[in-house]
Amino acid sequence: MNKKSCLNCGHTISDEFCPHCGQKSDTARITVHSLIKNDILGSIWHVEAKFLHTLKNIVFRPGKTGMDYIAGKRIRYNNFISLLLVLFGFNVLSYHYYEKFAPAQPLTDDVIYVKDFFSKYSKIILFVIIPMLAINAYSLFRRIKLNIAEHFIIGTVSLLGILILFLLSDIVSLIGLWKPVEKIFNIIDKIIFGLSILFPAITYWTAFKNSYSKPGLLWRVSVLYVLMGIETLIITAVLYEIF
Ligand SMILES: [Zn+2]
Repeated sequence: MNKKSCLNCGHTISDEFCPHCGQKSDTARITVHSLIKNDILGSIWHVEAKFLHTLKNIVFRPGKTGMDYIAGKRIRYNNFISLLLVLFGFNVLSYHYYEKFAPAQPLTDDVIYVKDFFSKYSKIILFVIIPMLAINAYSLFRRIKLNIAEHFIIGTVSLLGILILFLLSDIVSLIGLWKPVEKIFNIIDKIIFGLSILFPAITYWTAFKNSYSKPGLLWRVSVLYVLMGIETLIITAVLYEIF
């Protein structure tokens, strides 16, 4: 094996990556071919593939994905916190888009209320929901020896799932506006809305299912929802008081 040195830091390398700085040990010059294949197409594909892989796993296997991430299996996923900011941005964008193109009253009052509240206080809600979930779950799921920061990650997965579902619902609504076969889109929209409310339950259930009996999980998840409900009411009341 020929020894070469890292082009970035000069450390001797014998493997695919520099053991000191992590840069690829590729020493070839940049050519038109490598520029197009590796740098442009490769990085777009890589970013896209990682992003879609992360979204897919959060939606379909939220508990396992969260626990894997906590256990240190992270390289195949986007950082959950940065993903949160990206998805949050997408949600704000799609909400404005929807506002712009929606005819006067396609939504029921309660949906408008929820969406209105979400857009008004979304930043506060975003930063409050995760710590709320984390603290409540930390006190409810003591047997899982997760610390509060690790519970924060499970809470983040819950909110990520909700944001992904909200985005899907917005996309469905937009398609519904553009091609009005309304009934089907309304039903899909309602299913997605219901799923987004259930999503934290699915996350906690699948994350902790090996450590508790089914009844044990059921009452803990139910109490989690009751606590979240009460706390949300209190926070909402306080927000309306202040603003
Ligand atoms: Zn290096």
